[in-house]
Amino acid sequence: MLDAEFFRRWMAGAAAAVDREADRLTELDSAIGDADHGSNLRRGFAAVQDTLEKEAPQTPGAVLTLAGRQLISTVGGASGPLYGTLLRRTGKALGDSPSVDREQLAAALKAGTEAVSRLGGAAAGDKTMLDALLPAADALGESFDAAARAADAGALATVPLLARKGRASYLGERSIGHQDPGATSSALLFSALAEAAE
Ligand code: ADP
Ligand code: MG
Repeated sequence: MLDAEFFRRWMAGAAAAVDREADRLTELDSAIGDADHGSNLRRGFAAVQDTLEKEAPQTPGAVLTLAGRQLISTVGGASGPLYGTLLRRTGKALGDSPSVDREQLAAALKAGTEAVSRLGGAAAGDKTMLDALLPAADALGESFDAAARAADAGALATVPLLARKGRASYLGERSIGHQDPGATSSALLFSALAEAAE
């Protein structure tokens, strides 16, 4: 079973991965965006770490809703409200039980990704974070490793896509041939989840 401690470990791992990969995320965003995705997420997840340490939420749902709220209030770019909504909605779906299992988390993440899709108006194939999040949430029904692999594959599969949402969509055809920064950071999130589960 996955308890609050597990979810705090996941968020700490995500913060560390984002910090480690911030330059790469910003580089990807400089090709088809405005070169701030790495710094946006680094700031956001550092704030998440701070607030989780201070408030020490005691249920899985409370960890994710607090993390989501913090991302929304600290990240200015599109990704802040989108990731914030993902975590908040996922946390809400987990309710207030002291521990949950992988299947429950998979179902909650599906609700979370649907909320991201509603907020941003994007669907699979639009070259956004959803191209990693949707297959990963699906594959989590199978295993943590399958989810991480699906997120990686989803991020890689954004390369040939034409961006239909967000800043990259302003480039039209010129967005083709570049990996989406948000799908790349979503893959980091699912790698951190798989690591927390080891
Ligand atoms: P901004 O685009 O405001 O500079 P970021 O650079 O932090 O914000 O994040 C960009 C990422 O956000 C994109 O790579 C994409 O994955 C994601 N994104 C942008 N718009 C949307 C949307 N409408 N739906 C889902 N994801 C989106
Ligand atoms: Mg940007």
